[in-house]
Amino acid sequence: MAKSSVLGYPRIGENREWKKALEAFWAGKLEESELHNQLQQIRLNHLRKQKDKGIDFIPVNDFSYYDQVLDTAAMFGIIPQRFNYNGGAVPLSVYYGVARGTKDAAASEMTKWFNTNYHYIVPELYGAEPVLTENKPLTAYREAKEKLGIEGKPVILGPISFLKLSKGYGRSEIDTWLSILVKLYVQVLQELEAEGVQWVQIDEPVLVTKLSNDDLARVKSVYGKIAEAVPQLNILLQTYFESVEQFKDIVNLPVQGIGLDFVHGLEGNLSAIREFGFPQDKVLGAGVIDGRGIWKAPLGKKLGLVKELQNLVSADKLLIQTSCSLLHVPVTTKPETKLQPVLKNALAFADEKLDEVVLLTEALNNGEAAVAEALEANVADLEALEQSESRNRLDVQSAVARIQSQEPARTSPFATRNAAQQEKWQLPLFPTTTIGSFPQSTEVRKARQSWRKGEWNNEQYSGFIQDQIDQWIGYQEEIGIDVLVHGEFERTDMVEFFGEKLEGFAFTQNGWVQSYGSRCVKPPVIYGDVAFKEAMTVEETVYAQSKTKRPVKGMLTGPITIMNWSFVRDDIKREQIAYQLAYALRQEVEALENSGIGMIQVDEPAVREGLPLKEEEQKPYLDWAVKAFRMTTCTVQDTTQIHTHMCYCEFHDMIDSIEEMDADVISIETSRSHGELIHSFEENTYKHGIGLGVYDIHSPRVPNVEEMTVMIDRALKVLDPKLFWINPDCGLKTRGQEETIASLRNMVDATKIAREKF
Ligand code: GLN
Ligand code: ZN
Repeated sequence: MAKSSVLGYPRIGENREWKKALEAFWAGKLEESELHNQLQQIRLNHLRKQKDKGIDFIPVNDFSYYDQVLDTAAMFGIIPQRFNYNGGAVPLSVYYGVARGTKDAAASEMTKWFNTNYHYIVPELYGAEPVLTENKPLTAYREAKEKLGIEGKPVILGPISFLKLSKGYGRSEIDTWLSILVKLYVQVLQELEAEGVQWVQIDEPVLVTKLSNDDLARVKSVYGKIAEAVPQLNILLQTYFESVEQFKDIVNLPVQGIGLDFVHGLEGNLSAIREFGFPQDKVLGAGVIDGRGIWKAPLGKKLGLVKELQNLVSADKLLIQTSCSLLHVPVTTKPETKLQPVLKNALAFADEKLDEVVLLTEALNNGEAAVAEALEANVADLEALEQSESRNRLDVQSAVARIQSQEPARTSPFATRNAAQQEKWQLPLFPTTTIGSFPQSTEVRKARQSWRKGEWNNEQYSGFIQDQIDQWIGYQEEIGIDVLVHGEFERTDMVEFFGEKLEGFAFTQNGWVQSYGSRCVKPPVIYGDVAFKEAMTVEETVYAQSKTKRPVKGMLTGPITIMNWSFVRDDIKREQIAYQLAYALRQEVEALENSGIGMIQVDEPAVREGLPLKEEEQKPYLDWAVKAFRMTTCTVQDTTQIHTHMCYCEFHDMIDSIEEMDADVISIETSRSHGELIHSFEENTYKHGIGLGVYDIHSPRVPNVEEMTVMIDRALKVLDPKLFWINPDCGLKTRGQEETIASLRNMVDATKIAREKF
């Protein structure tokens, strides 16, 4: 008999009660004991839910007080020295200090968990003397057993992945670190074994990335040692987010089960298992229900897949499971009362995915007839969406097909455009500008709320927005900025604003997912063909331009960023969705140009994060991402200046693609990467206009003229002064008014100094 299994469950709670508890505790409004109580209730609820639904292998220790990677580090006492931790169980104050910073010590770095939008805390290994502080998986196992009679499956981040995700060690220290870590893992696992735990899930997502021969040898050695140390314990080595590289070596590791992703790594894993088979003595964890997407699974098709897999392994050695932890999807569709039924009926969030896992297991074990009704309903629900008008917009599809077949290119090459633009705009050397948003004060947010609630009518609200624009056009002129912006006061965030105005998007009421720590995001859902309805940004931009003689830059979010920050349909390729978005946004670009706006910025901060994990897929992704950007921006006149903006560093592997985007000017975040970025420009000459952010906008501190001068001088050593722009790192919406004005004044002063030197 096949069994059902889940890899991890969202921790935020149906009403984000987890987030609320954490934040109340941080604000000093919740006692520590009460925090423990509340989180325990949340945790037990989640376990109970999975038990009631009939999941056989229920994960424990997937819950966290912040982040599972930080938990692993804390379990091993790996706490940076600046937090004055003296051994023993890690106090909550230290734990949250590492995550969020204290008044004396900066937080540890946070970075993206593989190619998801979840961010983990990067463990810092330097100076650490690891020791087991608390066997957290054991505590979680006991709790589930004692409180609910659940035979839980402890989940632990594996040593290979833990080390790969950590920083603060050199190549030569890898083996030393691994042997230290293995000892600790063995200790954890031996205690679990002694407790009578049956299965442990060890997550090793790095096994889906390319491993060197040395690394592979390390994997074998580590799991060899672990196997020897815990002969009675069943280990399920779990991979996800892609197919495993080196399939044969991995499935033959001395563990009792291997978990593979048959959703995101379907092609690779399926062809490998067909070719090489699967060890008959091992359990196969078949991740067939998408743990990251929000759509119902086509159960008939999935059933075909699990039947094939069952034939490849012994019948009693198959687990039907989610492709990865359900951390990446919202909790349940139940509270969604406002979605059209055709859409709502096609959605499956975490709880609905539990049902799918169980249903599929039942269909496999007891025959389809046993669940015929549910299978039929599933077909009907998915068909209804597939045949809905929104997914069959022939107007959109044919227009996109047409422009997609052409190579999207501006009329003239950059040099020609640059000359034409310079002639038209007569900008000074080192033009100054900002990235788009100005402070979203409480006043701005209140106004929006009043308008959304209907307390304010449209006129009142747009009058208010116009006042804000007036005020900030005034400040910008007075400070002496060369290229102005309207300030984005009408926008909540850069994706929702556009999603609400385009067709093909839906917004959930409660579809929250954890982004990092207590921060949750509610991504829009791109469910249908994306279509332009009416101009989205023209009114405010044109209004701003009417208030000044200096150029005002129009401000849009690019196709790739909108796509990467949304939940997207899975019936067509992402590439296709990107082109649809590009076509819609192109119409906005044209509308701006037709209204007399001659500089248009198309923000693409999220290009880098959509990069596929598999090396061979990265170039094709970047190629179509670049194409989508060009499609958005290529139809304007030579004199219209296209800007783009990107945050986050690590651009060294993308510089060619950035150049191919063919924007006239790019602004990039620089400060936080401590000049690493400048370094990458030393080797690659970037030949378009470029503004390297001269100050970090993440802190309220007002940067002084000297430090910005240092940044400018350093950049000008490697970049062409004629193409150099001066701007902050990113948008200023999270900053206060006073500090923003003071910082921009200093930025303009630093620019004047630089101009004098040239
Ligand atoms: N134009 C946007 C802003 O200024 C860009 C934000 C971003 O890069 N994340 O807010
Ligand atoms: Zn930015």
